[in-house]
Amino acid sequence: MIEVASIRRGLVVDHITAGKGLLIFNKLNMASLNCPVVLLMNVPSQRMGRKDIIKVENFTEIDTAMLGLIDTKVTVNIIENEHVVEKIKLAIPHEVKGLFPCGNPRCVTNIDAYVTPTFHLHDEANCSYTCEYCEEITKVEIR
Ligand SMILES: [Zn+2]
Repeated sequence: MIEVASIRRGLVVDHITAGKGLLIFNKLNMASLNCPVVLLMNVPSQRMGRKDIIKVENFTEIDTAMLGLIDTKVTVNIIENEHVVEKIKLAIPHEVKGLFPCGNPRCVTNIDAYVTPTFHLHDEANCSYTCEYCEEITKVEIR
């Protein structure tokens, strides 16, 4: 098992479904962060068999809405002075702004760049959202 030093301050995104770590890394623009980032893939896990983990040092503001859309099994641990001070259990977000486009090509959010697409959760089981502007239902699959 690869050893990665624990971090003093930052965050650990744990229990990522194996294979989704790179997607989270890309969708949350972690390559553009100006701090140390570690992406661990296929780590053995008692609970999950295998999992991915992301550790980011000196950074604690994470887009939990985007994370929840990608993988609701994730836990985010906020680390201060080498201790976990907060554990965030991810859930599918009920309101989403600007993370994906509306499925209706004639929707104002697809025509006017100044209107931010805004959605409300329609059906949690298949991750579909209702557009606030045109009421079109969009099934979301982040990939
Ligand atoms: Zn719409």
